Amino acid sequence: MTIGAMIGDILRSLFKKPITERYPFERKPAPERLRGKLHYDPEKCTGCMLCMKDCPANAIEILTVDRAAKKFVMRFHTDRCTYCAQCVQNCRFNCLGMESEEYELAALSREPFVVYYGREEDVQFILDRAAQENPDGTDPCQPPAAA
Ligand code: SF4
Ligand code: SF4
Repeated sequence: MTIGAMIGDILRSLFKKPITERYPFERKPAPERLRGKLHYDPEKCTGCMLCMKDCPANAIEILTVDRAAKKFVMRFHTDRCTYCAQCVQNCRFNCLGMESEEYELAALSREPFVVYYGREEDVQFILDRAAQENPDGTDPCQPPAAA
């Protein structure tokens, strides 16, 4: 490219609208079918465990609070999920869905990546049980810290 053509390009660009998007200051709606963060409806779950068995990334744990009363909690590992949607397609009770607008999942620590879904009292039951089983406060879901 000659200097003259280059200067012409620069001058034209000065009067053109920038093509870049001002994300995150301006945010466009996500495509409707984008696979965002997984969500779970505990009211419909039968505890069949199919989603947990089918997940290729071990991202789902279904924790039983009371099988007879159909009370379950899902522990979801956002950082392991590959967003393949296999669990969503395979759940016969439509308990699972992926929220297209929830795709900004980066975080500075690992804590936000473990999510508990379920009725409030059931999640509390699971957290209390985990605290009793791990009184030193170590998270059984996380790898041990490097020595
Ligand atoms: S596949 Fe559906 S019904 Fe079965 S445990 Fe998973 S979320 Fe519950
Ligand atoms: S979307 Fe795929 S990787 Fe993520 S929890 Fe479901 S089956 Fe596992």
